[in-house]
Amino acid sequence: MAFYVTTPIYYVNAAPHLGHAYTTIGADILARHHRQRGEDVFFLTGTDEHGEPVALAAEREGVTPKELADRNATRFQALLPRINASNDFFIRTSDPRHKERVQAFMQRIHDHGHVYKGVYEGWYCPRCADFKSDNEIAEGNTCPIHRIPLDRENEENWFFRLSSFQEQLERLYAENPTFVAPQQRANEARSFITGGLNDISLSRAKISWGVEVPWDPQHVFYVWFDALLNYYTALSFGAGDHDRTAELWPATLQILAKDILKFHAVIWPAMLLAAGEELPKQLFIHGYLTMKDASGEDVKMSKSLGNVLDPFEVMDKFGTDALRYYCFREVSFGQDGAVSTIGFESRYETELANDYGNLASRTIAMIARYRDGRTPAAEPDPALQKDFDGLTREVTELLDKAEITQALERIWQRVRRLNRYVEEQAPWKLAKDDAQQGRLDAVLASLAEGLRVVTVLLHAYMPETTERLMGALGQDGGFAIAGAELGRGTPGTVTPLDPPLFPKQA
Ligand SMILES: [Zn+2]
Repeated sequence: MAFYVTTPIYYVNAAPHLGHAYTTIGADILARHHRQRGEDVFFLTGTDEHGEPVALAAEREGVTPKELADRNATRFQALLPRINASNDFFIRTSDPRHKERVQAFMQRIHDHGHVYKGVYEGWYCPRCADFKSDNEIAEGNTCPIHRIPLDRENEENWFFRLSSFQEQLERLYAENPTFVAPQQRANEARSFITGGLNDISLSRAKISWGVEVPWDPQHVFYVWFDALLNYYTALSFGAGDHDRTAELWPATLQILAKDILKFHAVIWPAMLLAAGEELPKQLFIHGYLTMKDASGEDVKMSKSLGNVLDPFEVMDKFGTDALRYYCFREVSFGQDGAVSTIGFESRYETELANDYGNLASRTIAMIARYRDGRTPAAEPDPALQKDFDGLTREVTELLDKAEITQALERIWQRVRRLNRYVEEQAPWKLAKDDAQQGRLDAVLASLAEGLRVVTVLLHAYMPETTERLMGALGQDGGFAIAGAELGRGTPGTVTPLDPPLFPKQA
């Protein structure tokens, strides 16, 4: 079984920020989870490098667009190991292999009769690399996003007959209500479509930094056509030593932020239909992490971090796993929500350091003290068993719907259950009573097993921490999801955690 997940490719002129990290970590959590299920996973990310904004920036700096793209792409590549992304490939749209496949794909669309030459006139924002329709422009013919005056452009272009896909797209959304998730985003996509689709410009004649139109080399493809195709072209050269398109296409899940919904939910499926290709199984649209609270005020300042949640600063001080955890714990994946340094520090302390880190330290310390470091072999306590029954199935079902936050909540409920179990059973009391030694074995074995199970399930979220804890528990059974049931571990020799998993910050 294959699981192919993508992030959008990031525009190479931007500087990597929390939003890029967020999308990529979300895709990474799902990729890692599906690897734990033993599936054939392919996880793709990369950079979008063509278009006028790159050409203009390069001109300003006196370098070639390729030189600028090379330099800027390395900033995105450098982000990946820092956030512990396990992507299988990093595609760059300036890669000649990508260009060749774009040309072949677009030639198919041409040969199927879905393009024609026409004259385009409209308002164009060079920084969006996009024409704006009359209802998309701000006062004084400016770009509502960039607040710069728009150029009135008029040129001979190739057009894509998007309008001819109106009915097919309407049917797609009617017959496949989860093609776009969450539901609210599917509704938005449908309203774009039912509002009436116009043909769109497919090429640009005035710029040369792009993929040449094979049937008219005076033109390059409009950057969005070239960029969207990365999801398809990468499989032919980036997925191993042979073309794996037949094995991995269509994509299982494409993750993106809501600002690029229209391109992905309307134009992208139309392009695939035009070429006679299968459509991705699902597009998942996530929201924004904002730095404002519900009343629109800037979120509060904290003592140890600044006002703005800077992902690099968080990772430097608290570790990558803490950032990965916080972003998906604080804001439900798919919704907008506020993140803050105060919120981060609070969850770090109460949840990571206390709930999880302290549970791990105590469990291991008690096994070391009372059982000389050997985890007792005993059946899991039925009192705990009933609270763990069905957990793994719940988590996998939620993650099948990309409900990363809800799955994390279910796991965390069991982390808290284990802490209550320690208090209920009070192993320190059992240890003092010779008649309770069998009971103490059962309690310690159950705790170690419960901790192992949540750790297997948390692995996709916090890969480094969970590796370390599994080592400290003396477990060599690995992270296969099939093993995430109480009683499936092999009792090992524990090693005290020093320093603890999430040290308190001074
Ligand atoms: Zn703009």
